[in-house]
Amino acid sequence: MRLLVVEDEPKLGKLLVRGLGEEGHAADLAVTGDEALWMATAAPYDVIVLDVMLPGLDGMAVCRELRAREVWTPVLMLTARDAIDDRVKGLDTGADDYLTKPFAFSELLARIRALARRGPSERPTLLQVGDLTLDPAAHRVMRGEQEIDLSAKEFGLLEVFMRNPGVALTRVQLLDGAWDLAFESTSNVVDVYVRYLREKIDRPFNRTTLETVRGVGYRLVP
Ligand code: CA
Repeated sequence: MRLLVVEDEPKLGKLLVRGLGEEGHAADLAVTGDEALWMATAAPYDVIVLDVMLPGLDGMAVCRELRAREVWTPVLMLTARDAIDDRVKGLDTGADDYLTKPFAFSELLARIRALARRGPSERPTLLQVGDLTLDPAAHRVMRGEQEIDLSAKEFGLLEVFMRNPGVALTRVQLLDGAWDLAFESTSNVVDVYVRYLREKIDRPFNRTTLETVRGVGYRLVP
């Protein structure tokens, strides 16, 4: 396999490249995010092993940018121990798997093999419905060129709609997708937030994309 290792710590980077080489793989080393972007865009790799903690452009930014450039090479992200936040964020930016440091070399090999078997999969990190785009990782929403400022809950609700474009969703489905707190499920919180959303994503743009579906709930149409 042809592998790209992105790691700024010289010792670990060399160790990984040598170890992978001994296993019969051709491994290249990038020591900065910029270098990684350049190499991963220029050459077809089977798997990229990407450290999160890099100076300058970090692993998250590299992964997001690769996906934005439609490079779908499987990415195994190396995260700090117990940094659950990093793992979630990493998967949001389009990484395929993660491994926490320190790790056993045999586990790294197993993960790389599993990812290579799966092959590249197109998973756009941007959700798009018509000219409305939502970036889960960057927490940004745009209508065309204009950025829309949403609260965390409005954002969560819109994300549920955008993952199910054109589908009539019940209030319960919307609650389950956007809210964790059980006590809120007794209120008309969905209706209230749909109203807020319409004021932000539709009304200023003279649209009516967030439709009421009588007897069911709501639907987002392009
Ligand atoms: Ca590092």
